[in-house]
Amino acid sequence: MSDIIQLLPDHVANQIAAGEVVQRPASVVKELLENAIDAKATFIKLIIKEAGKTLIQVIDDGVGMSVTDARLCFERHATSKIQSAEDLFQLDTKGFRGEALASIAAIAHVELKTKQENDEVGTEIKIEGSEVVSQEACVTPKGTSLSVKNLFYNIPARRNFLKSNAVELRHIIDEFHRVTMAHPDIKFDMFHNGSEIFNLPISNRRQRIVNIFGGKTNEKLVPINEETDIVTISGFVGKPEYAKRSRGEQFFFVNHRFIKSAYLNHAVNAAFEGLLKDKNHPSYFIYLEVDPTTIDINIHPTKTEIKFEDEHALYAMLRSTIKHSLGQFNVAPVLDFDRDSSMDTPYEYKNKQAQSPTIEVDRDFNPFKEEKISGSGSSSSSQRSFTSFKKEPAGSWENLYVGLESDLATNSPNSDSEETQFSTVEFESTEVTGSLFTEEENKELSQYTAYQLKRKYIVTTIKSGMVIIHQNRAHQRILYEELLRNITMASAVSQQLLFPLKISFSKKEFALLESIREQLENTGFVFGEMSVGEVQITAIPSVVTEKEVSELFERLLSDLENDVPETGFSQTDALAKSLAKTLAVKTGVELAPEQIQYMANSLFACTEPTITPNNKPTFITLTIDEIDKKF
Ligand code: ADP
Ligand code: MG
Repeated sequence: MSDIIQLLPDHVANQIAAGEVVQRPASVVKELLENAIDAKATFIKLIIKEAGKTLIQVIDDGVGMSVTDARLCFERHATSKIQSAEDLFQLDTKGFRGEALASIAAIAHVELKTKQENDEVGTEIKIEGSEVVSQEACVTPKGTSLSVKNLFYNIPARRNFLKSNAVELRHIIDEFHRVTMAHPDIKFDMFHNGSEIFNLPISNRRQRIVNIFGGKTNEKLVPINEETDIVTISGFVGKPEYAKRSRGEQFFFVNHRFIKSAYLNHAVNAAFEGLLKDKNHPSYFIYLEVDPTTIDINIHPTKTEIKFEDEHALYAMLRSTIKHSLGQFNVAPVLDFDRDSSMDTPYEYKNKQAQSPTIEVDRDFNPFKEEKISGSGSSSSSQRSFTSFKKEPAGSWENLYVGLESDLATNSPNSDSEETQFSTVEFESTEVTGSLFTEEENKELSQYTAYQLKRKYIVTTIKSGMVIIHQNRAHQRILYEELLRNITMASAVSQQLLFPLKISFSKKEFALLESIREQLENTGFVFGEMSVGEVQITAIPSVVTEKEVSELFERLLSDLENDVPETGFSQTDALAKSLAKTLAVKTGVELAPEQIQYMANSLFACTEPTITPNNKPTFITLTIDEIDKKF
């Protein structure tokens, strides 16, 4: 039999290697940014088009490459960073495998322009699928510009596997965050589809974090500092009261490299013990510096795990350092009502297609006319139009808001903490009855008077006993179902604003906003000019008042920040949840008798009245038997 073993041609080997190195556009971003940092750049510009699917370009002012190096850098195992395997244990660069550029060039159209400081001219090379298409001298500033176009153009299966632009962009931004946070001494700029979404000047770590996550972050940070023989710990932890349900901002950097470590994460959580509400996660930005010979960087190109020589000691030090700082900065325990952003998909709306909103302009609207307060019986589109879906008489919804709007507006920035004062009792979920009431009981519900208890609960009776409804949670459920219906089944109704609202967002918030723009439009928002820093809103859903808009966006973006769902429906669902949470009448608000009644009736008209959109019980029942037993 003849020989059958063949050596794979280089471009095939490169394509295979690319499968490991490049999973998605964000992997390319990481490799290119790291190369620029290794090249000692002081200013790095990242330019992205269509979430990296059509263009990823990194421009740096680093050392550049000679003509020969420019050609060589695309060869496999071509690296300037190590010469022998021992060098691996002394690494202070990001790269070392010499594989990234070769892999990227195998699966994209790549253009390199580079020049070293003392050279007259630079080199320009174009490569497509590992083949050099052209190489010539060019005029270019000192440093390197590398463009990667049409990623995976020759591997359709991989290209099709890419997620939506919103998701891919989020991965890129995550990567960008990690790299830029590790290097505040480098200026970074990032553009997406022609607009600047980050502009990070050279700064200290704290400023860098604030520049990335927005001005509000500053007050949340508690510095940590510790220096020992084996490790230098610095950075910040978030104050416990800002902890969130979703694992958002959690970063470890070891020797300027972002890493993941479940073990060290545990140490941080241990330090926060007793300070956090159940299931909440602290944010942290922790920088560790250790002797490079005491760590083992996983040699897999994309893994971010690392092995420490003395893990146990590190754990103990980290824990006590954080504990100490939290104590020193007098961070007292604060219990917070849940900010849940778990996104699950309920029942029958799943397969429904969203429809674009229609705008109804109220031509009779006169802003100088006295504002109607009760609005009962009115069907004017500039008022809340939830009622169109209700069996209840029109206006009952608005009644619920009488006297409430000013309340919401004044309390909005800290509605969470406002809730805290009233919310010391948690429901026992075991007490929830899964079944609905009989028709008879329902009738009774509306006959009997309902009372408000402690501005938090609504108490009413049924034949078999009594029902205690959590007003805030119940309202969340009611609103959530209304919103879903509005968005998915009928067209959402917008109210045109006389003067566009202008809201400013951080760069990151803006990017997020753009990615959910379509879904927001489905809920009834209409956007005017949108630019980084300022967004104009020309119409809002009829279920929202103008005053609520900015709080609503703040809440929504923070809920979605760490978890932009991919599909249209779960995005809609996430929006509905967040909006419902923001708009729901808060604990501590006194309700008028008809509002109390409305709440009880509407809750039990819901498809799933027993729980909030985030699976918290909305009411409990106490049967006569149970009451009897207590006597
Ligand atoms: P590695 O980073 O592991 O060495 P890469 O394939 O990423 O492998 O890069 C290969 C080589 O190309 C690097 O070792 C470096 O010498 C050179 N190089 C890559 N990017 C740049 C850049 N932006 N500036 C200067 N040199 C670069
Ligand atoms: Mg590299």
